[in-house]
Amino acid sequence: MRIDVFTIFPEMLRQFAGHSLVSRAIRNELLDLRLHDPRGHTSDAHRSVDDSPFGGGAGMVMMPGPIFDAVEAADSPRPLYLLGPGGRRFDQDLARELAQGEGFSLLCGRYEGIDERVHEHLVEEELSIGDYVLSGGEVAAMVVIEAVSRLVPGMMGNAESATEESFSSGLIEYPQYTRPAVFRGWHVPAVLRSGDHALVERWRLAMSLARTIERRPDLIERRRGLSDEDLALLREFDLLGGPEGLATEELGDTEP
Ligand code: SAM
Repeated sequence: MRIDVFTIFPEMLRQFAGHSLVSRAIRNELLDLRLHDPRGHTSDAHRSVDDSPFGGGAGMVMMPGPIFDAVEAADSPRPLYLLGPGGRRFDQDLARELAQGEGFSLLCGRYEGIDERVHEHLVEEELSIGDYVLSGGEVAAMVVIEAVSRLVPGMMGNAESATEESFSSGLIEYPQYTRPAVFRGWHVPAVLRSGDHALVERWRLAMSLARTIERRPDLIERRRGLSDEDLALLREFDLLGGPEGLATEELGDTEP
């Protein structure tokens, strides 16, 4: 997978690319991350990439010239997404879709934004990572790169991890526990230490359902509500009223 990023702060992305899963993916040649600085396509002594807005108003606007030149010189993979708060919301479905392709490009804005002709004539789409305003698109680019790259086949150590995570089945994830079995008097649910794998699987799905109903009812609506099987599962673990109290049922105190 090749990802090209256009940014006037390439160092931010370089730092990010030197860590964790993304750096491993680059080392293993699963990810080809290329950074391009529009400042390299300026001709004045100050290497200016911004100017004041036509019509007046606060702040500066990124000029189209250096951005068009940088994109055209890079011959970067398409689609090219402009990161911006007014764009389509980036989510796990889009991350999955992008992970199946061969690559894409990201354009990071700064200042008050980017000349509208970039929106109209250079990029395919605008992507937002949420309803808040960042000072620049670099952090948003890192969010997109990290979410997509961990779904690229071969990227994660445990191939199953990505398929069981939040959103993979339209639900948020069940609670996870590790040792000790009792920590400060708080017990791990007995079902997880029962050794009954089928029961553990049903409990996890029931907890995912209950948590999603409680925290993200919009995701349940997107699945067109609860099926008869979902309701039976919730009933089996007495979760029709929500996930509270579940972690304290049938407690044992000894670590297996
Ligand atoms: N004036 C713009 C507005 O009101 O929509 C905000 C510009 S913001 C200060 C500067 C840059 O940060 C944007 O061009 C964009 O690249 C990036 N940015 C800010 N918020 C973002 C978000 N929620 N998602 C993605 N990118 C964002």
